[in-house]
Amino acid sequence: MSRPRTAEVPTDRARQVGTSAVYVFPEDVLLTGADRICELAHGLGVGAVSVCLRYHASRRWLPRHRTFAHSLSGAMYWQADAGTYGALRPGQVVDEALEAALHRLRQATDRHGLAFHAWLVVLQDAGVVASHPGAAATTFDGRPHAELLCPAGGRVRRFAADLVRDACARFAPRLLDLEAVAFPSWPQSYSVAVEIDAVRRELRHLITQCACASCRVLLAGHGVEPGDLRDAVDATASGGPDAGPETGPLLDRIALARAEGVRGLIDEMRDAAHAAGAAIRPLVFADAAGARLQGAWGRGLAAADAVGIGADLSDGLGAGAREVIAPSPMPVAASLTWSPGWTPDVIDAGAAALASQGAHAVSLYNLSLVSSGRLEDLALMASRFRSAAGRCGPSPT
Ligand SMILES: [Zn+2]
Repeated sequence: MSRPRTAEVPTDRARQVGTSAVYVFPEDVLLTGADRICELAHGLGVGAVSVCLRYHASRRWLPRHRTFAHSLSGAMYWQADAGTYGALRPGQVVDEALEAALHRLRQATDRHGLAFHAWLVVLQDAGVVASHPGAAATTFDGRPHAELLCPAGGRVRRFAADLVRDACARFAPRLLDLEAVAFPSWPQSYSVAVEIDAVRRELRHLITQCACASCRVLLAGHGVEPGDLRDAVDATASGGPDAGPETGPLLDRIALARAEGVRGLIDEMRDAAHAAGAAIRPLVFADAAGARLQGAWGRGLAAADAVGIGADLSDGLGAGAREVIAPSPMPVAASLTWSPGWTPDVIDAGAAALASQGAHAVSLYNLSLVSSGRLEDLALMASRFRSAAGRCGPSPT
């Protein structure tokens, strides 16, 4: 279902996309306490807390609490409402104590004048794939992925929209940060890559392309047949001098097909979020070439309210990121991962660069992963960004 964007954006959604936030994990909310999390967020100078409600497989060291947390693929931090979902539904892996802490945070954000943003990893769910292998991303030679769902299929789009509906009904977020909402690629699988002779960059792009039944239809609409992908993999793997000229036009056609596929997914999630009064902000962490082949660029993202882009203080949004969003300008949040190398000078220059590149907000990653002694670094980043953004035009609230 595709619907033209309305010209008039409700004030709250427009305001949310310009609100800087800090990411936080549920375990930290439980251990720190909801009110204290809000106090820390205020200390960082942000206007929102973006809390993880659904995550990918991970292991996380939380230094302020000296504790170690794990999650499985498709980890849910709330009890899914079975009545909300169609054929695909997430597993019931909720930890009741963590869920209760998240509800306390939801209430605390209102008391502290902060916005509650819901951070969801959408298309990674080993449990759903195990029950519905036909919904999985599939390699060019027909092997289903162990945990990634393909966004070209109608069932998966419904599942993604249902997740948004369910999260909105439970937590009433002002905005959803949506991670893993595009087609698979090498970095998005969150898997350990087992290789001895490193796989070439071009080949990584090709071998991670989904060729499931839905994708075959999508790709055929842009003149790409399954045999084309197989031939390109063979040509690139051979490393011959003619590989590049052959794959370039093919990758361009694939990128257009992927953008069309992501557009269909984003449309459904946006409609679900807007019906609940929330904005959506897909997150893009891949480099430009990878993002294009995931469909996370241009018209693929055009129906979203904003986009979050992985940024670096030394490189800002990067030339690649600007290329990704240039075809469909929209508000951009720079997602900044704290680094031990940050100094006030680096922060000043980086913040000014981000603001001048048009970033409307910063999302600081991650309150739960930094020690108490490093919170000042995050706060400095946020304040310098506000100052720089004020000089350059966009003004986060
Ligand atoms: Zn597919």
